[in-house]
Amino acid sequence: MPQMLIWRRHTPKCTHRRKGREFLKCSCPLWADGYANGRREYRVSLKTRDMGRGLKRAAELDAPGAPVLEPIKTAVKAFMQRCTDLQPSTRRKYLNSLSQLQQFCEAQKIDIVSDLTVETLEAFRAGRNLNPITSLKELHTLRQFFGLCFDRRWISANIAKLIKGPRSIRPNDVEPYTASEVAKIIAASDAFGRGAYERSRARDGAPVAIHGIADR
Ligand SMILES: [Zn+2]
Repeated sequence: MPQMLIWRRHTPKCTHRRKGREFLKCSCPLWADGYANGRREYRVSLKTRDMGRGLKRAAELDAPGAPVLEPIKTAVKAFMQRCTDLQPSTRRKYLNSLSQLQQFCEAQKIDIVSDLTVETLEAFRAGRNLNPITSLKELHTLRQFFGLCFDRRWISANIAKLIKGPRSIRPNDVEPYTASEVAKIIAASDAFGRGAYERSRARDGAPVAIHGIADR
């Protein structure tokens, strides 16, 4: 069981600030640090200046079944470690998206995965200004990331699953096939189906199936 230290982040105006953060008899914002084996595991704002409320929130953080307090930074590291078998270009895209998210959270003073909400994630998405295809791909990355966070009990839900993908993906937004990709698709559609009729249906249907934009 990690130990928790409750302290106040004294404001520049606090007349007690020289007494150190463990001086609690003022009304500066309350924070909590969690320690395990003498090492600090997390630091989280208790989002109040009131000691009664602060203690209540601290108890909630410590309650059995509560999300584990995991810094976003180390959660991203854990996710990237799980992706080592992927193509370097895919890993770069994942890391870019998650670094952007991390910076966004830092600017919002959110350190801990469980402090992220659907609203925060929507605000992050709104600021990204990506084209619909890239935006959809990034949403898939976020769903994988928060899926890992959920599995490890760092968050109580996969919040990225509650976010809708871009609404209108026009055919023009879909990256066109190269000639060799088209040849492969036609060859694949010739390889199955017994009659000529089925083959031609598979051929007509193949590009649509492979576009795979159905799960927006
Ligand atoms: Zn103070």
